[in-house]
Amino acid sequence: MDRPRITVFDTTLRDGEQSPGCSMNVLEKLRLAQQLDRLGVDVIEAGFPIASDGDFEAVHKIAASVRRPIIAGLARACTPDIDRAWQALKVAAHPRIHVFLATSDIHLKYKLRITREQCLAQAREAVRYAKSLCDDVQFSPEDATRTDIPFLCQVVEAVIAAGATTVNIPDTVGYSMPEEFGQLIRTLREKVAGIENVTISTHCHNDLGLAVANSLAGVQNGARQVECTINGIGERAGNASLEEIAMAMRVRPDRYPYEHGITSEQLYPSSQMLAEITGVPVQPNKAITGRNAFAHEAGIHQDGVIKNPLTYEIMTPQSVGVPDSRLVLGKHSGRHALALRCQQLGHNFERRELDEIYRRFVVLADRIKRVQDSHLLELIHDVANGDFGAQVKKYPQSVASAVHLPLAASAAAGADSFPVLMPGIASHGPRTNSFGEHHGEQEDYLWGV
Ligand SMILES: [Zn+2]
Repeated sequence: MDRPRITVFDTTLRDGEQSPGCSMNVLEKLRLAQQLDRLGVDVIEAGFPIASDGDFEAVHKIAASVRRPIIAGLARACTPDIDRAWQALKVAAHPRIHVFLATSDIHLKYKLRITREQCLAQAREAVRYAKSLCDDVQFSPEDATRTDIPFLCQVVEAVIAAGATTVNIPDTVGYSMPEEFGQLIRTLREKVAGIENVTISTHCHNDLGLAVANSLAGVQNGARQVECTINGIGERAGNASLEEIAMAMRVRPDRYPYEHGITSEQLYPSSQMLAEITGVPVQPNKAITGRNAFAHEAGIHQDGVIKNPLTYEIMTPQSVGVPDSRLVLGKHSGRHALALRCQQLGHNFERRELDEIYRRFVVLADRIKRVQDSHLLELIHDVANGDFGAQVKKYPQSVASAVHLPLAASAAAGADSFPVLMPGIASHGPRTNSFGEHHGEQEDYLWGV
């Protein structure tokens, strides 16, 4: 029953903040750090103190005021960086110095202009110096996934001997494939002396959309820390998404039998706060935290979710902090979802009335992509007054709008509230398209497949 505990290392404030449009001021960083604390992350990488005075101040303020998690600060493998990081971090209840140095030949040759021997010596000395200041030292061989593997093993062994307590393996350029990345972690465990005494960590970029898959492959092969960010923000295509990793382990413990300390109900509030602070919206179809992650538009899906959320939901919106599931009313919505929304707006219709409203709704939804409550209320009003075709005149073109159905209320609306219309029941009003020729719940399903 003892499941390995995964350390969640959040780098939203460091790597994430480096992404275009995501810079934050000191107070914004502090606010987000407090939210990360509520979320339950184990480590907050608060910044890169030597990068700017603002970064220094943010790391220092977070170190002084957020006391439960470990607070990490980034430093290149040189004395001024490490000193600056330590100055910012030393007030922390649990400080960590994170030292990095590139190890791939391409970085050594073109960026650092040093030999492998110089790289090895510099890594060893930097970790030794950081260790003289702080017990908790993490080392990252930058561009590890493009580093010659025997040399990578040599560097990792040297930094462990010098006192590193966590060794983080970055896929800096997002180049690795899951099996390959998993194999790399396995190789390090097999070849490096002393590795059993340190925590192996992953830091995967999403250039090929594989950051989460690579991180999970790393965990399956022995990594026990995962670096990630809220909404997956980060350099270029971003980092591994914290919410996706956390929920993959919660939804599929049969495949990923690991524990972590994330309070999943804080995932959505954290995502929303980050978007609000940076002004960078979450992509609508983003897993877990996107606006549409729990939205069901297709008729067959809506009907299923109303009857039992498990038909189309592998986790509840509530479990990740989304207030309630949303049903978007659009042209693919079914009669059942429309009836429910009318009910929520205070209108209970008999089946003939509902049939008429539904027919008009379909016509309207064909013209405007998303039907809002206000549109629906007008439509109801027009039907009540016998003003046929009013919506066609009012909304000749597509406009962006949406109606959201709180699913919580849907439980009250039983499937039997609106009996299925049988063919042959006359409907009043003009038939404006072929949908009007069909009745019965079955037609709803045709649009949902
Ligand atoms: Zn990175």
